[in-house]
This record gives sequence, structure tokens and C-alpha cells, in this order.
Amino acid sequence: MTAPTILVVEDEEDIRDIVAFNLRQAGFRVLETGDGRGALHLARSRQPDLVVLDLLLPDLDGREVCRRLREDQATRHLPVLMLTALASEGDRVVGFELGADDYLTKPFSPRELVLRVRAILRRTRQAHSEPVVVGELSIDPERHRVEVAGQEVALTATEFRLLHHLAAHAGRVQSREVLLERVWGYSYQGYARTVDTHVRRLRKKLGPLAGYIETVRGVGYRLREPA
Ligand code: CA
Repeated sequence: MTAPTILVVEDEEDIRDIVAFNLRQAGFRVLETGDGRGALHLARSRQPDLVVLDLLLPDLDGREVCRRLREDQATRHLPVLMLTALASEGDRVVGFELGADDYLTKPFSPRELVLRVRAILRRTRQAHSEPVVVGELSIDPERHRVEVAGQEVALTATEFRLLHHLAAHAGRVQSREVLLERVWGYSYQGYARTVDTHVRRLRKKLGPLAGYIETVRGVGYRLREPA
């Protein structure tokens, strides 16, 4: 499995550097931005596994960023760890009401931040190990088992991750770049064809359900949700 990607949104460079450094030391991949619009853009385009989001940003504040992430299909389930200089109980409640998964008050220790990030990812991953069922397709990550209309189908590890990613994001277009990053663990434009090759093989194995994987021309692929 590839290292989870954490998006760090913090306008104070010193704090951002410390947070990014410590997350990298802990083995995470890190994306960084100093404002809310950059955060929304990166969250959509790069699909990180978690966002560390500062409350006070120069453009949109953290609450607004959080609200917009929750409104958008592509980022609705993205876990958010909110950072704030405000420690009052009222702010805490507001943070959670807006969909932050956890809350850390400045000044915080980098070690504490890494622990919180790990804990949130662990909870999210547990949710991800639940079986995914889309129409006649069922995927059980725990048992690494895929069934097409009740019949087990043998997939390679990569095909499995690809199908699981598409199914977990059913109804939403996944670009080749995002698939490369999330399924293969790297982004390399020249290898976009790798995705196409695997999708072709996957469709063949899905047999009667091959049509579940739709090609979205010029973008990527989408697992359609049967009506
Ligand atoms: Ca700030």
C-alpha cells in the first residue's frame, strides 16, 4: 500500500513547515498550501487521504473550506483535522458541526498532531474495509474477494485496488492521474495508458458487468451506479 497523502493548509509558514516536516518524518506524503482556495483545488485534483486545516486563513476561513468540502461529491468524505488558536468550548462545537473529524488547539506538539492524524486514518480505513456493493457487483476488501452476480472473479492485486477505488467512488469520474496516484501510488503522465490497459482487462473479467465501468472521454473512468 502507498503512504497516505496529507494536505496541509496553513498560512503561517513556520507552522506549515513544522507540520509538513513531521508528517513526512512519520512516513506520509504531504501536499501544502497557504490558503483556502488552494486547499479546495488540491483536495479535488489530488484527492488526499486527510486534510490538516487551519481555521484562520487569508481568503476563506477553515469553516468555509470545511463546508465546501462537505458539499462537493468528490471531497465529501475527506477527513479533516482542524487547527485553531481558539480554545474555547464554543469553537470546538462549531468545528465539529461543520464536519471536522478532530480538532487541535495551537500551540500543539507535532507528535500529538501525528498521533491524531494516524487515529483518524485508522478510523477511516476501518470504514474502507467494509464490503462495497454496487448493483450486482460486490467487493470485500477484508477477504480480497470480488463477486459478479454471485460468481467469484479472480483479480490481480492491482485490478482489485482499481476496482475497489472506482466502486468506493461510484458515480464520480476518476481521472487517470488520480487513479495512478491512488491505485499505483505515483503520478506520471506518460503512464496514463497503464490505467487504460488495466481497465480493459478488468472489464473482460467483469464479463456481464463490463459496462459498469464507463469511459469518460478525455478524463478517465467512472463506475456507474445502476438505476
Ligand atoms: Ca492561520
